[in-house]
Amino acid sequence: MSAPSSRPDRIFEGYIFDLDGTVYVGEELLPGSARLLAALRELGRRVIFVSNNPTRTTSQYREKLRRLGIEVGEAEMINTVVTTVDWVTAEYPGAGVFALAEEPLLGALREAGVRLTDDPAEIDVVIASFDRSLDYAKLQTAFTALWRREQRTHFVATNPDPYCPTPSGGEPDAGSVIAALEACTGRRCELHFGKPGAVMMGAVLERLRVPAESCLVVGDRISTDLAAAHQIGASAAIVLTGETDAAGLARLDAGERPAYVLGRLDEVLPAAEWQRRGWREGDGADSRP
Ligand SMILES: [Mg+2]
Repeated sequence: MSAPSSRPDRIFEGYIFDLDGTVYVGEELLPGSARLLAALRELGRRVIFVSNNPTRTTSQYREKLRRLGIEVGEAEMINTVVTTVDWVTAEYPGAGVFALAEEPLLGALREAGVRLTDDPAEIDVVIASFDRSLDYAKLQTAFTALWRREQRTHFVATNPDPYCPTPSGGEPDAGSVIAALEACTGRRCELHFGKPGAVMMGAVLERLRVPAESCLVVGDRISTDLAAAHQIGASAAIVLTGETDAAGLARLDAGERPAYVLGRLDEVLPAAEWQRRGWREGDGADSRP
């Protein structure tokens, strides 16, 4: 089956980009990414990069993008480290927090003055996260904190993703940690701070300063990127360079399908703009502008 492809016929005011599977896979920039970003800069459009992955700080993400040839300003990159820390400090200042998480999130929480503790009696908020150092002791601590019903410990998560795609397959992500805690405690995770949730998407729009209806969300995952566009009422483009393939899109109800389906990222620009720039099919594949 050939891939369905329908490009936007307009240039949007704001662009909300996913990273993994959309701009790059592993350490490889995907074809057309760099020249698309350069073109959007020339056109004066606002852009933001959004990742659900809490295992890097935004500085680390910007450094990676710089290494791959894309310069991104500080306000143009947001991930669940930012939204999680912002939520905890705004909603539960002074709370005891236990995070099943890796160092980038733990460090950011510490830097923000959050009181981290592994004493179940002191824990007010349990944060489930993408944690490749997860062990039984951490599960036990979270379980005991959540199990003490009288304590009303909050159960939140950085992001809902079941797994994180990697060039060789994938790694269990925060969704699997959420599931483990839900299974043993009988509790339900109350809130997460990633796409497509309201916390993340509110933070994205606040930074982008463009009304949602003038934005295009571009990503490779139906359950997060497409759902994020629906959550805020923005247009959606699914790019077939990551998780989603044509068959996956075909299984969606007509009303749920994205407005646009792209074979590569630079197809975000309309055909008229390709013509104006002298871009041709098949060129720009070296991913440099
Ligand atoms: Mg992705």
